[in-house]
Amino acid sequence: MHEFSIAEALAAQVLRHAPVGGRVREVEIRVGALRGLEPEAMKMSWDAVTHDTPLAGSVLRLDLRPWSLVCPACGRTWESPVPFETCRCGETSPRPTAGDELNLMSITVDEDETTAEEA
Ligand SMILES: [Zn+2]
Repeated sequence: MHEFSIAEALAAQVLRHAPVGGRVREVEIRVGALRGLEPEAMKMSWDAVTHDTPLAGSVLRLDLRPWSLVCPACGRTWESPVPFETCRCGETSPRPTAGDELNLMSITVDEDETTAEEA
């Protein structure tokens, strides 16, 4: 599964960046449309790969980027929620130019363990 391997790589990256002793509460990533990630599948994969790690219970937030399209006829570039959209010049085959990014944007950590709400 596509999302699962991405979640695994992401978890490893987060663990390298997370401060020792801090409890990771939230992880935010920015994902380009070309990645084709299913947000629900991604979150389920995240829960699965972090289950037995210090990241267990952390929330994965996905910032899904729109498609970035360029028109081969008139050169216009624009962003769109869908990959196939007719350009306003009439060209029906714009090409996606970007959108394969997958960036770790932020890690939210609870530093103060004395206030941890551990049951
Ligand atoms: Zn055009």
